[in-house]
Amino acid sequence: MRATLMFGAGDVRVEEVPDASIAEPTDALVRVTRACICGSDLWPYKSLPSLDDGQPMGHEFIGVVEDVGADVAHLKRGDVVVAPFVVSDGTCDFCAEGLHTSCVNGGVWGVGGLDGAQGEAVRVPQADGTLVPLPVEVDDALMPSLLTLSDVFATGHHAAVSARVKEGDTVAVVGDGAVGLCGVIAARRLGAERILILGRHEERTSLAREFGATDVVSERGKEATARVRELTGGTGAHAVLECVGTEDALFTALKIARSGGAVGRVGVPQVESLPGAQETFMRNVTVSGGVAPARAYIPELLPEILEGRVEPGRVFDSEIDLDGVPDGYRAMNEREAIKVLIRP
Ligand SMILES: [Zn+2]
Repeated sequence: MRATLMFGAGDVRVEEVPDASIAEPTDALVRVTRACICGSDLWPYKSLPSLDDGQPMGHEFIGVVEDVGADVAHLKRGDVVVAPFVVSDGTCDFCAEGLHTSCVNGGVWGVGGLDGAQGEAVRVPQADGTLVPLPVEVDDALMPSLLTLSDVFATGHHAAVSARVKEGDTVAVVGDGAVGLCGVIAARRLGAERILILGRHEERTSLAREFGATDVVSERGKEATARVRELTGGTGAHAVLECVGTEDALFTALKIARSGGAVGRVGVPQVESLPGAQETFMRNVTVSGGVAPARAYIPELLPEILEGRVEPGRVFDSEIDLDGVPDGYRAMNEREAIKVLIRP
């Protein structure tokens, strides 16, 4: 089968790899019908040292079950399924607590021998726990939005939940990538009255406005902090969704949180330590968040998409086939595309 491999910074290739197949009785074999490129795929795209064997890429997908192992009870051939960006058994203590990203039988696509999602097919371990059947046909018009349940919509939602967004809040979203845009949708859903988006790409901030953002802050650093304070009567935002992960973005997120407020961080941190420890200590700013347990949120978010209340799939502004994947990485890296959808 064909799948995407990364051999180093800027070096993405689509190559012939061994066919995915059932290895454990708890596995399913899924033919991928939709996948995508993630903002987090751009970190290795910028910095991965050269590899002799390529790294399988992709962790977001929807597909059709082609085969199941003997112990798979809740899935059958022909089911249309969405996969969250990590594997989980659905039964361990962490899964029971809704923290599927810490599953004791977990795994990450493309790591430790698992297939990546940017290919023709994937072996899915712990299939009963990992996969969620979708009550739609394989080419349903809702596919782009349903695909965001794999990662970006669930991650934006996790940022909002971690930042304790509630009815009537003023919310600030740091970052205008796909996760930040989904964070706007999530904050709106949870009742935010005012939503400030911090970003400077006009086509992204205008989509943020369509998703419910009320104010755009295009300044950065100290100027961004000053602007948010000015827009919030000097106090800052009740809830801040940090959707970037750089030191600047983290620092800004902490500075613009209102005293007693909370920051939900979902951008993969590019630094070892959090900035602003003393200042946020004195102001009782809660810092929360982390890698999003997408599997836990799918039952809540899926009906929102099926019933048309939210359209997170609008973050996809480009669609390619497998041959187009290397150029898709380039386009996202150069910010020509917000998020690239792949139809293998
Ligand atoms: Zn588990």
